[in-house]
Amino acid sequence: MSADTPADTEGKDFIRTRIEEDRAAGKLSSGVVTRFPPEPNGYLHIGHAKSICLNFGVAEEYGGTTFLRFDDTNPIKESEEYVRAIASDVEWLGFKWATLTHASDYFEELYKFAVDLISNDKAYVCSLTAEEIRAQRGTLTEPGVESPYRNRPVEESLDLFQKMRAGEFGDGEHVLRAKIDMSSPNINMRDPVLYRIRHISHQRTGDDWCIYPMYDFTHCICDALEGITHSLCTLEFEDHRPLYDWVLDNSNVNFHPPQIEFSRLGLEYTVMSKRLLNRLVDEGLVEGWDDARMPTIAGLRRRGVTPAAIRDFCARVGVTKQDNRIEMNLLEFCIRRDLEAKSPRGMGVLHPLLLTITNWDGGEVDMTGPWHAQNESLGTRTLPFGGSLYIEQEDFSLDPPKKWRRLAPGEMVRLRYGYIVRCDEVIQDDEGNVIELKCTYFPDSRSGEDTSGLKPNGVIHWVSAPSAVPAEIRVYNRLFRVPDPSAESFLDDINPDSLEVLEGYVEPAIADSPEMRFQFERTGYFCKDPEAPGVYNKTVSLREGF
Ligand code: ATP
Ligand code: MG
Repeated sequence: MSADTPADTEGKDFIRTRIEEDRAAGKLSSGVVTRFPPEPNGYLHIGHAKSICLNFGVAEEYGGTTFLRFDDTNPIKESEEYVRAIASDVEWLGFKWATLTHASDYFEELYKFAVDLISNDKAYVCSLTAEEIRAQRGTLTEPGVESPYRNRPVEESLDLFQKMRAGEFGDGEHVLRAKIDMSSPNINMRDPVLYRIRHISHQRTGDDWCIYPMYDFTHCICDALEGITHSLCTLEFEDHRPLYDWVLDNSNVNFHPPQIEFSRLGLEYTVMSKRLLNRLVDEGLVEGWDDARMPTIAGLRRRGVTPAAIRDFCARVGVTKQDNRIEMNLLEFCIRRDLEAKSPRGMGVLHPLLLTITNWDGGEVDMTGPWHAQNESLGTRTLPFGGSLYIEQEDFSLDPPKKWRRLAPGEMVRLRYGYIVRCDEVIQDDEGNVIELKCTYFPDSRSGEDTSGLKPNGVIHWVSAPSAVPAEIRVYNRLFRVPDPSAESFLDDINPDSLEVLEGYVEPAIADSPEMRFQFERTGYFCKDPEAPGVYNKTVSLREGF
């Protein structure tokens, strides 16, 4: 794209507007370059999806490229398992990175940049303890106190830094600090720590290093080395931007990317931080990172949510500078919207009630139903029908309200794609629970060729008992009882009824189909659990609201 293309900013968010302007100003001669830089300390959540859609999205739109860069500078919390899970989630969402890198690929270069800072009297080895450094940082209203090591001779700092690297000191004995301004109104600029000693193996570099660079030093240099044209991050880094710029201004890099902040995505009734999600996993409150109640990409996938629905959701949320918690209804709307057109329909009974047809002779016969009444391309399926069926408990009422559209004593309903039946007798157990309905069917009422002239109350779903396939049906409710669980007390707000496990049945064509996702007629969207055969996860209800 040529530099004289005028900026087309109409209807664009502020980041795309910025890119358009940079392009019009001729600043992007070799295209947009972005990066998605997760720390491999957990699985990705839907908040990360927003960042992924933004970073990969703008690169796609402007003919650029995106790095997937693992920000792996804190080996205590990081692992290869997380690296693999993150990469596969990004792919599953439908994005391709041009290059996969790790911050640890640059450890040697970062070390050299640090040595340069020391040589130029822009950094020094400080031998205060972590507590002392914290105590001397000052507050928003009071300046910090300069470290007694701040004016240590350059040669001494160089020597100590080299010895820190060589493993001559224990954890916490020294740190490397930038020499900026202890009275800066921005606390991040008060001689921030650039390197610390950690005698711990790193998942990629093993024991090669016992000093590890801090995020604020690492991130900007990696961005510069990779030629990132727009370093997009969330708003909490706004106060770090002066430090991002300071490090690059004081380092001998060829390129100085702009850091641009946007708001974090929050979602109602859940928490959105790997640290908090990790606690749910560790404390056994969910089955794992991919528990279908988790807001993780892996959890949403397991629940049956499609990549297209997540991308649509991120697009609708948009990119702004206002932090916000989005309503769950918007996510569910996007999920339904995507599944509506493409998922086959079938019948599944969640709370089975036996219905026996007393005038039925013989065994099962094959009926036919379309997989999707509005989408013929999905074809039809065979549907066994017979004298012994399961219907949904809630489709029968002993004492129906007015205008009851379902089954009741003496009343008629149509069994979808089958026949009209009338309930003649209700069998109850000793406690009064309805356990079986005895019905009559009308042979001339077969669906599609009905000549009976009967007027049933409504149409209900069912499965034929002999060929019904038992299914464990997992119905998920919100993981939290409150829309805005807080980081401090989120464990108190867990919804104890977030999972309901039902012993139901599905029609055989569903169980036999290679498809994973279905609409169970009248009930909701369900997905076969990819890990557990015979288990169906409820993805979303058919209509809004719990
Ligand atoms: P977490 O607290 O979940 O670990 P993080 O910001 O520490 O979040 P990173 O792995 O550092 O997680 O994030 C990688 C990228 O994803 C960063 O650029 C970060 O700004 C972005 N990101 C993380 N959470 C969100 C969110 N909720 N909404 C939008 N972007 C996010
Ligand atoms: Mg982080």
